Amino acid sequence: MKSERPYDSIASWAVRFAAGLPNVAVTLSGMSDIEQLGDNLSVFSPIVPLSDIEQSVLREVVEILSGYNTIPCTVCGYCVQDCPRNVDIPQIFKRYNDYRQFDNMARFDIDYYAFVPERRRASNCVSCGECVKKCPQSIDIPHELKMIHNMVAGFSIGIDIERLSVNGDSNTKYEHPLYYHLEGFLRLCRQYKKLYIYGGAENQRLLAKYLEKCCGITIQGFVQSETLESVPANDCSAVILGLSDKYYNEIYPNLRWLGIQNIIFLTENAKQTIARKMRVHEPEGTIIEVTLANHCNLNCRSCDHFSPIAEPKFADLAEFESDVGRIAELSEQRLGNLYLLGGEPLLNKDTPEFLRLARHLLPNTELCLFTNGLLLLNPDMDAFWEACREFDVIVQLTKYPIQLNFKAIEEKARLENVRFKVFQAHINFQK
Ligand code: SF4
Ligand code: SF4
Repeated sequence: MKSERPYDSIASWAVRFAAGLPNVAVTLSGMSDIEQLGDNLSVFSPIVPLSDIEQSVLREVVEILSGYNTIPCTVCGYCVQDCPRNVDIPQIFKRYNDYRQFDNMARFDIDYYAFVPERRRASNCVSCGECVKKCPQSIDIPHELKMIHNMVAGFSIGIDIERLSVNGDSNTKYEHPLYYHLEGFLRLCRQYKKLYIYGGAENQRLLAKYLEKCCGITIQGFVQSETLESVPANDCSAVILGLSDKYYNEIYPNLRWLGIQNIIFLTENAKQTIARKMRVHEPEGTIIEVTLANHCNLNCRSCDHFSPIAEPKFADLAEFESDVGRIAELSEQRLGNLYLLGGEPLLNKDTPEFLRLARHLLPNTELCLFTNGLLLLNPDMDAFWEACREFDVIVQLTKYPIQLNFKAIEEKARLENVRFKVFQAHINFQK
């Protein structure tokens, strides 16, 4: 319409359309200010009916708008005056129509809560019907309000939105934003091409790491009040707020003022969960144990692995590679200790290959294999000793009260040039 008649108001098209209809003698136009009066006077001086081209432009526009399935509210405000609950009908319908038109649920979600105060939202309508009498568009207002209320409630269920108060008092609703739990939050993040994180402290860095490494969501960068202008004010960009709740009320208006339309808020719970998940817990001191064989060739009464009653079962090489590979990734190859044990780990004939994999995946980790020593002097153990030497594995022998040549084992380890430790077991033993 603007390209057809750049200097005409949109309202003038409506007036000319109505005045051009056959059998229409008088056209009434609602006017709220002096500018609108001036506009109407110029349109009627003299009135020029729509040309055929303009008619077809109008039909095209009508077709596009009808496709959005909006509510035909003109935001005149007549309906509000007699509403006993002071429901902000025009504002609610405006937000809803924007949502239908731009298909941006996240924006509706935020705007509805940001711009319509809680006491004036659709949920307050008591279906008295007073507003319907006033609406020049004959809109079934209570029906539409109910639909919007249900839709908002549906969002809450669907993406698990949690509305929290600033101070933790559940009676004080936080007027502005919505907080998203993790699943809804990630779904929302994936809607935008350019994501920025407000802040840059440890929790926000952990959030960026989580989004990029675990979820494949790219973060453009961190922004703060002085760098906010670098965020494009368009529908494809969003700013994530993952700060302490108390800052939200300060930052939110700033973002709005700069024209940033999409703002994603994290729940306190989601923030803490992500930080906990991503914080590396001093991997240098961490010990991870892997059981190479569930069962044992001894029968200790007080075995805390319950090996005497365990079915024979061995660790799987492929699973080991995948699990230890992930541990290596998460610890940035700084895991302190990997213990390989059982049952009796040497019952697993693939033990040398497990040692090779462990060293390959964790080049900086102390590798330690715990054994009761029963098989260490067997003639077919050459590959094991060789692997311990090559991959720098400590053999930790637990001394049980059994007939075993411990001196010979110690000597064997020395000759094989393998690091060797002995631990005296103080347990009830039953052979
Ligand atoms: S139907 Fe609802 S919105 Fe309309 S006047 Fe009554 S309470 Fe207000
Ligand atoms: S009276 Fe009708 S058209 Fe006017 S604001 Fe209310 S709902 Fe919209």
